[in-house]
Amino acid sequence: MEDIRFCPKHGFYRGELCSCGFKGEIVLRKEKVERLGKFVSGVLRHFPQKFDLEIDENGWVNFESLVKVVEKKYRWASRWILKALVYSDVKKRYELRDDKIRARYGHSIDVKLSDMPEATEDSLYYSTSEEEASRLLEIGIKPVNQSYVHLSTNFEKSIEVAALRSKKPIILEIDAKKSREDGIKILKANDFIALAKEVPAKYIKKVIQYSSSV
Ligand SMILES: [Zn+2]
Repeated sequence: MEDIRFCPKHGFYRGELCSCGFKGEIVLRKEKVERLGKFVSGVLRHFPQKFDLEIDENGWVNFESLVKVVEKKYRWASRWILKALVYSDVKKRYELRDDKIRARYGHSIDVKLSDMPEATEDSLYYSTSEEEASRLLEIGIKPVNQSYVHLSTNFEKSIEVAALRSKKPIILEIDAKKSREDGIKILKANDFIALAKEVPAKYIKKVIQYSSSV
């Protein structure tokens, strides 16, 4: 985790220097970035009810209501700090639109997210382990502890995800084009992540064994 800083030209960013080379003032130190991020994503993905937040079927929560919850939890937090967290997030976890905010992915609560755009990629990728892969080829990919299966929009991204879990991951290539033609909706959460309710086994078109050189 990195500090959040502010560049007058480019806004909030993470790390020492802005992409333009400017070193901005610290807005929030990394320890607090981590705590606030965990809390906010927890609220939006897993337990909005715990704080009496109303969440609609597309995962949206009133932004001002969330500001109040966050201010109550952390004395140092504010509307500005919350916006800093959202706009500087490189993983694009959150979406802020009009007076509403939501998590783009990672939900365990039941959400439809039906106003999200559909993924247009021909192939999507899912990383797994060797042991798990043969099972998935039989029964398809279903969400585990989440309401959606999270797919990567390109091969490189899926390797990044895989590297966190296993030294010798298996990458499954999904025929998203075919599944789309068959009427299955896959949502595009952000540039790197697509969401599917499930992926039937017949759409797994390639099994790629990947071993990292490190
Ligand atoms: Zn800048």
